[in-house]
Amino acid sequence: MNESINTAAIERLRRREEFLWINPDRPPVRETLPALPLSRADIADAADRFTRFAPLIAALFPETRETGGIIESPLIPVPKMQAACGSFSRRGVPPGRLYVKADHLLPVAGSVKARGGIHEVLCHAEELARAHGFLRGDEPYTALLGKDARALFGAHTVSVGSTGNLGLSIGTMAAALGFRATVHMSADAKAWKKDLLRARSVTVVEHASDYSAAVKAGRDEAARDGNAYFVDDENSSRLFTGYAVAGERLEAQFASAGVRVDGEHPLFVYIPCGVGGAPGGICFGLAHAFGDDAHCFFAEPLESACMMLGLLAGFSGDVYDIGLTNMTAADGLAVGRASAFAGGMITRLVAGCFTVDDSRLFRDLALLYRTENLRIEPSAAAGFPGPAMVRSGGEGANYLDAHGLAGKEAQITHVIWTTGGSLAPIHEFERYLARG
Ligand SMILES: *Cc1c(COP(=O)(O)O)cnc(C)c1O
Repeated sequence: MNESINTAAIERLRRREEFLWINPDRPPVRETLPALPLSRADIADAADRFTRFAPLIAALFPETRETGGIIESPLIPVPKMQAACGSFSRRGVPPGRLYVKADHLLPVAGSVKARGGIHEVLCHAEELARAHGFLRGDEPYTALLGKDARALFGAHTVSVGSTGNLGLSIGTMAAALGFRATVHMSADAKAWKKDLLRARSVTVVEHASDYSAAVKAGRDEAARDGNAYFVDDENSSRLFTGYAVAGERLEAQFASAGVRVDGEHPLFVYIPCGVGGAPGGICFGLAHAFGDDAHCFFAEPLESACMMLGLLAGFSGDVYDIGLTNMTAADGLAVGRASAFAGGMITRLVAGCFTVDDSRLFRDLALLYRTENLRIEPSAAAGFPGPAMVRSGGEGANYLDAHGLAGKEAQITHVIWTTGGSLAPIHEFERYLARG
């Protein structure tokens, strides 16, 4: 680590500047990946689990029948948004292509949390079922819909701490399988997310504190209950591998769209970051799928830039230490301390991080709705300033130079990961629009 450079970047965080920080320590992925505690086999294991459970998911959630119970989101070209934001263009010809990876449309949970959260619930259900004699031989997974399996799950609790969307994902899947489900919500959680969970028979415990405290409360409560399973968003490899499956899914989507990704046609991906599990898992999955041709940037609200701070200063502190408030309209990103586990996985994989003012979230959300008719929540808009940040000189220009991409911007495919929002009630969405 270069102390003085890091001190300067931390000072910019403290001053609440919108800026792009480039990771100085990013060797080729073939050097980094073998040293990590998770591997390609772990991603394959998660993908296989999604496949095994697909018939059961199709039975429980009719909206997934079209895809045979596979929960996936579309990759959507957004040329009108690209033209409108002008962020790609200095002379009117927007170089590169802009796509949205529309995880806000993921069925069941309506956010990126559908990947990781549902995967962890499936891991636990499978383990518990096997330990009790279910799923022997080639018994189909739909056996878990039967009375006996549901009675087993009904005697067990799945719990989680959340700013909203992880709770929606875990709570919905756990309750659908018959588990008792408890979600510990931080003060940031939106009322409509709590209402939706209660309507899905999930117990919602409201905390007046921030996300880390809600997680701790949930972890402590579950530790006292021998039949409780706690999904620990700050430390979970099961969440992480579930998120990582997105890498090979995106690879398949580009292949079927006939879009090449290679050294000459790199992929730049911009992902909103809270505790780091979702963007970290995706970054890890993309590194396995695309190697050095994928360049991942994480986007954080000015007041909650915990991942950038963690990468600069280590993962023991939080954003309050440098005078930030962790108050943001991006409820899904309102996290003061990043996951040390996720941080450790991506320290040498992530290309960079950037900070975003809340007002931009609403502006870009409104622009996306007007140009492409897509409805996302504020957190999910954090990636949109990314391409302009990379192109606007300074750190970004150095990065393009260092990767031999100066003057080749037209060959870059940009993907903004829109991480949530399709479940927001219309009156809620109209309020977002009004602010944009
Ligand atoms: C949770 C969330 C993220 C970020 O995921 P983390 O694992 O917390 O980093 C991004 N966008 C939305 C909408 C989310 O709910």
